[in-house]
Amino acid sequence: MYSENIQQLLENKNIETGDRIQVNGRKGRLMPKPGTGDPEILNLKLDSGYNIGLEPEEIELIEKNEDSGELDIDLKHSENKPNILVLHTGGTIASRVSYEEGGVKPAFDPEDLVQMYPELAEEVNLHSEVVAQMLSEDMEPGHWQDIAETIDEVKDDYDGIILGHGTDTMSWTGAGLSLMLQNLDTGVMIVGSQRSSDRPSTDAKMNMYCASRFLTETDFTGFGVCMHETSSDDTCNILPPQKVRKMHTSKRDAFKPINAEKLGSVNYQTGRIETNFDQDDEEYEKNTELDEEVGVLKVRPGMKPKEIEFLIEQDYSGVVIEGTGLGHMPVNAFDEKTQHHEDILEKLEKLSEDTVVVLASQCLDGRTDMNVYDAGIKIQDAGVIESQDMHPELAYVKLMWSLGQTDSMEDAKEVFQENVNGEISDRSMYEG
Ligand code: GLU
Repeated sequence: MYSENIQQLLENKNIETGDRIQVNGRKGRLMPKPGTGDPEILNLKLDSGYNIGLEPEEIELIEKNEDSGELDIDLKHSENKPNILVLHTGGTIASRVSYEEGGVKPAFDPEDLVQMYPELAEEVNLHSEVVAQMLSEDMEPGHWQDIAETIDEVKDDYDGIILGHGTDTMSWTGAGLSLMLQNLDTGVMIVGSQRSSDRPSTDAKMNMYCASRFLTETDFTGFGVCMHETSSDDTCNILPPQKVRKMHTSKRDAFKPINAEKLGSVNYQTGRIETNFDQDDEEYEKNTELDEEVGVLKVRPGMKPKEIEFLIEQDYSGVVIEGTGLGHMPVNAFDEKTQHHEDILEKLEKLSEDTVVVLASQCLDGRTDMNVYDAGIKIQDAGVIESQDMHPELAYVKLMWSLGQTDSMEDAKEVFQENVNGEISDRSMYEG
């Protein structure tokens, strides 16, 4: 609550929360004061979307808030429009600013979506269902299974599904889903936003709109990720979710394909849609089993044998080692500083006896090849297999899934090394 002084000042100027005002030369919307803040400081949401606190010296009303919180747009569902289900898991994409409560709040109802995405609601009938409500750093493999089960249940009822997801772990969920639900006959576009919908630079609207157009105007089926191609509002890329990675903390074009090509694009300005995918008519398969007992180790100068000892003690079913270059780790002992490398190799051999150990590359781009250098050959002889062109996070998800399909370590290795649903590319794709 603001102090009585401040409340009086606001009343005199006919200013209420949500109104656009100017305070000491800064323009923004007046936010409410949470119980803990200094009651003499005004909270202002700037046009950039950031909140600041100001001691009011000069204050002036610019515009009353028209957003009463009431809906003035009807759902406009019609039989002639395609039906799109928005499945929510949380993240920025699923929140809108609340001037009544002073923060962003989840927007899960179809009515909320219509209000947030009126341009989209003109073209499709929007439906909505909540699977989860979280920031994606809290996402667990068990949530991927819940999402997969929901998609499996509802997929035949809609012309396309938009899966709203936080961007941090979107690619992990994408990798998990594409293995769990293969050859889907419905299109599912995973969509996130790097900037929340209350900021002028938000990417939420364009990403949602382009995803919906690709789903309804092409014959795309299976999973895709739809995010900005560049930092301007021109084109959205449609990317293969198992081969994509968040490569920037905050830029709108953070998502890049790794060892893969895009599946298409939608130009928001011209309306042009490009496609680059092959349709297969193989049978739909659902395999949601996972073995979550998978550990990860990052190779770097200075790593110690005790780290591998620790992994042995964990009794993991699988371990992904993020190696250097073509798939290496320090296993050559040649001077006094490298004597412990022998111990690393011995422990690696011990770990591989009961655990599927995979070597992936920190390079991300390119393919492991452990036959080029002596180190790679020693590591393979210790029982380690390579991730080929799967980047480390994809290798981690694929290993969980491979181990979930069988009780045999040898079979799991085979499953891991085969391309199941686009996660391992042909050698020629990027070397050509
Ligand atoms: N850490 C949040 C998440 O990944 C960031 C917000 C967002 O990207 O939606 O959910």
